[in-house]
Amino acid sequence: MTEGRFHAVVAGGGPAGAAAALALARGGRRVLLVDGGQRAGSRIGEALAPAARPLLRDLGVLDRVLADGHLPRYGNLSSWGSPELHASDFIFDPNGHGLGLDRARFDASLRDGAAAAGAEVRLDARVASAGRDADGGWRVTLRAADGGDREVRCDWLVDATGRSAALARQHGAARVQHDALVAFFARFSPAREGDRDARTLIESAPEGWWYTALVPGGERVVAWLTDADLADRAALLTEQGFVSTLDGSRHVSAVLRAHGYEIATRPRGADAGSARLDRFVGEGWIGAGDAALSFDPLSSQGILTALYTGMLAGRALHAHLAGDGAALPAYVDRLEQIHLVYERNRAAFYGFEARWTRLPFWSRRVPAG
Ligand SMILES: Cc1cc2nc3c(=O)[nH]c(=O)nc-3n(C[C@H](O)[C@H](O)[C@H](O)COP(=O)(O)OP(=O)(O)OC[C@H]3O[C@@H](n4cnc5c(N)ncnc54)[C@H](O)[C@@H]3O)c2cc1C
Repeated sequence: MTEGRFHAVVAGGGPAGAAAALALARGGRRVLLVDGGQRAGSRIGEALAPAARPLLRDLGVLDRVLADGHLPRYGNLSSWGSPELHASDFIFDPNGHGLGLDRARFDASLRDGAAAAGAEVRLDARVASAGRDADGGWRVTLRAADGGDREVRCDWLVDATGRSAALARQHGAARVQHDALVAFFARFSPAREGDRDARTLIESAPEGWWYTALVPGGERVVAWLTDADLADRAALLTEQGFVSTLDGSRHVSAVLRAHGYEIATRPRGADAGSARLDRFVGEGWIGAGDAALSFDPLSSQGILTALYTGMLAGRALHAHLAGDGAALPAYVDRLEQIHLVYERNRAAFYGFEARWTRLPFWSRRVPAG
């Protein structure tokens, strides 16, 4: 069955897809946002940087997000480059404090914002494939969870499918992976109430780094970041293996002990490496968010960048459809700049840790000398 024709189909209902759909709908474009993969608790990424606030305001969703009960985050704690713990406060940040997100709720509010702006949102199907039409548009196959297919037509595709970059790769782009960083993470529940420290804590270690943060609801997320070839994956995916590796940390395990935290979920693993598409725009498609540029979680900028590139992609596409031939090249230039700055900052931040530069995890990241 073929339904009406859209200016754009946005594949992926995370921050990038919602921001792109919102920007397109605001421009008066007919847009369909599709994501059939939303499962409670399946999203990773909890710390929203203070710099996201002006962006959420621009997108018209700041009040909606602030009403959602996310945790205020007033700063970070880090043991990085020395065994001591150092605090940095967002008190000096002109944008105020960050947020500890309930990701499922955050993503849902962004999609609600897109729907309120006029986007059609469909959460019961995924984009299974897309083929070019004789008139230069797309025929897009949406596959429901029960396997039923529907077809829609559109002029442009926005690939906001996250790290899979599913559509861009189907249509000729390659994902260039810069490292093999992986994350193993689990939720921990406290034995007693009283942990109010909503700062993110990071701690470097000889084979990677740890982080922990409180999440709304009183649990903590704990993650171990290392390279795929250095990890005992089978052990880390068990409660016992994860907890015994965690015992090797100094500060993260101390925080958990202080409040009697116990592991509450089975550990999961995820790709956390730095990667990019070899091109951000192709014939009839544009990539945004993690699909275009995926960052090391150390940056704490993944969600912010997904929102920003999603919004830019939506605006660029709207301008292109209105006849502005410079809009898409300007989008590509902007993403190239973001990538350059990210690479520079990543090298500098890893460079602050000089204790283990002869060990593989660090020698791969910290330039010799
Ligand atoms: C361990 C870890 C910790 C992190 N911590 C942080 C953090 O603290 N702060 C931060 O800012 N960032 C963090 N990040 C990064 C952050 O999670 C991502 O940058 C962000 O989620 C990217 O948003 P996105 O919209 O591009 O993609 P996603 O959030 O991945 O959303 C993509 C969506 O596309 C959907 N999809 C996939 N394929 C299809 C298809 N074929 N059709 C339709 N829909 C499809 C998926 O279901 C998904 O909902 C972390 C990442 C990792 C790995």
